[in-house]
Amino acid sequence: MIVAESAAEVRAQIRAWKQAGLSVGLVPTMGYLHEGHASLVEKSRSLCDRTVVSVFVNPTQFGPGEDLESYPRDFAHDCALLEERGCDMVFHPDASALYPPDFATYVEICSDMPKQLCGKTRPTHFRGVCTVVTKLFNIVTPNMAFFGQKDAQQLAIIRRMVRDLSMNVEIVACPIVREADGLARSSRNSYLNAQERAAATVLSRSVAVGRDMAARGERDARALVAAMKTVIETEPLARIDYVDAVDGVTMQPVDVVRDGVLVAMAVHIGKTRLIDNFIVGEGV
Ligand code: AMP
Repeated sequence: MIVAESAAEVRAQIRAWKQAGLSVGLVPTMGYLHEGHASLVEKSRSLCDRTVVSVFVNPTQFGPGEDLESYPRDFAHDCALLEERGCDMVFHPDASALYPPDFATYVEICSDMPKQLCGKTRPTHFRGVCTVVTKLFNIVTPNMAFFGQKDAQQLAIIRRMVRDLSMNVEIVACPIVREADGLARSSRNSYLNAQERAAATVLSRSVAVGRDMAARGERDARALVAAMKTVIETEPLARIDYVDAVDGVTMQPVDVVRDGVLVAMAVHIGKTRLIDNFIVGEGV
């Protein structure tokens, strides 16, 4: 497995692969890798000849007071996992390599799409995501790029950006990977102490209740969301940021629960903010 720190190293290798007629898949991550990330690598390997994983804690997607400094990092563990899973190249740049001191160009969706859901409390988050993903696409020039459904709003925004800017990459969505008790895998789960870890199952329990109600024919988004919030409110360590039903493509709030509607939540468990979601009409 090649470990590249500079864009130049990545570009040279990609050029060689493309000259040999090989397709390239990209899996962008912030590291501290787990089975959720591994599922994206596996999907990429099943569809592309070569898989590149970026490991980069992207400063521009963190707001003031968020967990940029404390975000968990373990690059040796990440490399071991990626090597075992058959990743061909890891791109692990320094922040200063991607963001020179006079960096001033951002990619932003100029509708209220990035202002819904997570955007309500993280107003600059998706601008940072779009900017770094654009840079990674420009460096790696992948045929396909793989994103988890766990970050459903991110996925929808990346799809919109790719369409709006005519980017030559196919976006592939991958299902949420969960722990045995239902908790969606996340690097941030490592922040939870034992009591919080137990409490954190309230997100997936609420998702299960919402999914069941929708499957049984509930069409009133307000009733569905209210029932899901009631589940979360039974957990004393949980504080709801949002639970919302939105159009799965535009992220606009909906009144009626139809197939394709995204029901998403962000919930604080102690100091840790966790997210989860489901799409109406889609399997677990
Ligand atoms: P992150 O390192 O958290 O920025 O995530 C990198 C990529 O992995 C994103 O596309 C995430 O949606 C995806 N991902 C993270 N956790 C999971 C999970 N539990 N299941 C599926 N994909 C995930």
